[in-house]
Amino acid sequence: PEPLLNVQNLTKTFPVRQGLLERWQGKPAKVVRALTDVNLSVQRGETLGLVGESGCGKSTLARCLVRLHQADTGSVRYDGQEVLVLQGDALRQYHRRVQMIFQDPFSSLNPRMTVGQTLQEVLTVHRLRPKAQQNERIDELLSLVGLPAEAAGRLPHEFSGGQRQRIGIARALALEPECIVADELVSALDVSVQAQVVNLLLELQEKLHLTVLFVAHDLRLVRHLSHRVAVMYLGRVVEVATTQDLFEQPAHPYTQALLAAAPLLEPGHRSEVSALTGELPSPLNVPSGCPFRTRCPHAFDRCVTERPELAEIRPLQQVACHLYDPVDREARQPAGAS
Ligand code: SF4
Ligand code: MG
Repeated sequence: PEPLLNVQNLTKTFPVRQGLLERWQGKPAKVVRALTDVNLSVQRGETLGLVGESGCGKSTLARCLVRLHQADTGSVRYDGQEVLVLQGDALRQYHRRVQMIFQDPFSSLNPRMTVGQTLQEVLTVHRLRPKAQQNERIDELLSLVGLPAEAAGRLPHEFSGGQRQRIGIARALALEPECIVADELVSALDVSVQAQVVNLLLELQEKLHLTVLFVAHDLRLVRHLSHRVAVMYLGRVVEVATTQDLFEQPAHPYTQALLAAAPLLEPGHRSEVSALTGELPSPLNVPSGCPFRTRCPHAFDRCVTERPELAEIRPLQQVACHLYDPVDREARQPAGAS
């Protein structure tokens, strides 16, 4: 079936601020390549986990999808419609269908408005319920996220971090979205609270048939929640697979290193590859060829000159690595082996 969300060759750069001296010297302006030719799709009703080290472009990608950033080139199709050109009412409609939830809901909640007033405002502005039905809907939203009806009368500061995140989710759900983009939804919360909020999201995803893009650096949470996982490195998607394949037979050397470096996986699922070594290159200075080559234990000459494209190596598993190119496979066989 056609994916609900389909990202093709998405590229985003940010200009780096130049000092007066550099400008006077006529130095060319530098850019950070935040996203390079990102390809990714999300099926209707699925949860796709998006992982990678901080600075790899996960948040930039999430923000480009909801148009908080404007991508330079490429395409984002949502339900068959090009998102990057939407304007006015069409864009507002898109923002209703695709809701972003942030790490810190407190900063986006009005401290002087009760939770009920906040939800009521959303329902009123978007004309989602006639006045007479608003209170009922507010009760319903609070119960969906596991908060008591009395919560409606209280102010944001009266709630704990986990409860505020529930309020943030209720506010997103008030718009009856089909798709949720959650960027580091629970990173700021205590571990015990994280599990509760993630389980709530899992429950809501099933109950409301939501499509979810779950951006996180915590592999354990991503594994628990996602149907498929995409791995990003230096602004590129380097591997996409079902959650089971990704954790049990990771193919990209970066994914293997990432899993080996994560202390949270059960024994037996640990990769044999050594943990991640070397420094993450600056996005100002992405290596030529394969972006991972400066840290890759398997790098060979082609990795320096040619960028590997994302390609399917088995059904539902795509990898951007020359090791899986059948031509290279043969060339790299030791002499005598067949
Ligand atoms: Fe390593 Fe080369 Fe594969 Fe990049 S393309 S991950 S450098 S083997
Ligand atoms: Mg981020």
